[in-house]
Amino acid sequence: MLCIKNGMVVDGISDVPYKADILIDKGKVIDIRENIEDAAEEVIDAAGKWVLPGLVDAHCHLREPGFEYKEDISSGTRSAAAGGFTSVACMANTNPVVDNGAMVNYIKSMAMVKGVVKVYPIAAVTKGQQGQELTEMRELKEAGAVALSDDGKPIMNPHLMKLALQYAKGLDMLIISHCEDLSLVGDGLMNEGYMSTVLGLKGITRAAEEVMVARDIILAEVLDAPIHIAHVSTKGSVELIRQAKRRGVKVTCETAPHYFSATDAWVDGYDTNAKVNPPLRTDEDVAAIKQGLKDGTIDIIATDHAPHHRDDKEVEYSLAANGISGFETAFSLAYTHLVETGVLSIQELVHKMSKGPADILKIDAGTIEIGKPADIIVVDLHRTYTVDVSKFYSKGKNSPFHGCTLKGKVMHTIVDGKVIMKNEKIIV
Ligand SMILES: [Zn+2]
Ligand SMILES: [Zn+2]
Repeated sequence: MLCIKNGMVVDGISDVPYKADILIDKGKVIDIRENIEDAAEEVIDAAGKWVLPGLVDAHCHLREPGFEYKEDISSGTRSAAAGGFTSVACMANTNPVVDNGAMVNYIKSMAMVKGVVKVYPIAAVTKGQQGQELTEMRELKEAGAVALSDDGKPIMNPHLMKLALQYAKGLDMLIISHCEDLSLVGDGLMNEGYMSTVLGLKGITRAAEEVMVARDIILAEVLDAPIHIAHVSTKGSVELIRQAKRRGVKVTCETAPHYFSATDAWVDGYDTNAKVNPPLRTDEDVAAIKQGLKDGTIDIIATDHAPHHRDDKEVEYSLAANGISGFETAFSLAYTHLVETGVLSIQELVHKMSKGPADILKIDAGTIEIGKPADIIVVDLHRTYTVDVSKFYSKGKNSPFHGCTLKGKVMHTIVDGKVIMKNEKIIV
């Protein structure tokens, strides 16, 4: 038995945090109350700290198979655990692409062997993510894919997207859309605006994202099918989704921590660690993203953890890979920029990073409840620290947040009652 004592608990269900001990046996929560005296073999003292449901990430890239030099399921899930994530849904843009049942099973079995958190595969919408032919969605669902996405690439053909939404709806599966019109992106490298002019880098119009968000909302509306918009980054996208929700369209969406924590000014100095897709935007967009999170337009926060090898990033800006290694800074960025600034309460933040994504993916996670799997984290909300990428468990050290001072640190991570991280150290 394991007992987490004296912490402030946000259980993901109750309206207010409360002080309690949590007793765990055989992987499950068996008691939640003050002053549990049972003799647990292992005790975690959470006095002065907060006890939260393990975080759930609806969007990450674990890179295995095919790109193990960037990340693999072992390093990626350890990085996730270090960031407080106990369940992660990984995208299909591996090599080979996860576009058939055997590949879904392969990811699941590798995760069982090497992973330290729960891994939920997201399978591709089109074969090889080529945007030509739909995958066998029923086979993917039966194999255990939690959603469908060609993330990394947009589905450019609207007719194919319509068919995909139609079939997925029939199977009760969710399509996650990476919204980017490639003809509008052209050879753009960063957000189009003052900074792209100053730096002399070709800009990407916001319309490249917003045109696709609008298209997908219209298709979902016509079909009355659900759709989830990945990594919302612009003020215009937030407004399109806000209006669609008012009309009753079954649209949900996520943003990533970098879209409320950084702007295109961070590209100054041609910092390739600030190169991400969609690109970092402006202060005005950051304000709109925060407002969208506050008023519920933006349902959840997902990392879009996209680790890269230094060889992919230590090149000329135009050649550098897109992406940020995001697991290990996500909670601190969100706490610092959203809770400390009064945008969200701690309960609201926890919802957007645990129960919210679990509900969208229909996975049983995101709360602390008697009888449920003990996926729990202990965080120190008073703790201020400086991000040091050399300490990342991820193979990807690509983060523009290196050197930033953040508040709120994940201290312990427990998955199915097993301590994976203790005092900031992964112990498995
Ligand atoms: Zn994407
Ligand atoms: Zn992604």
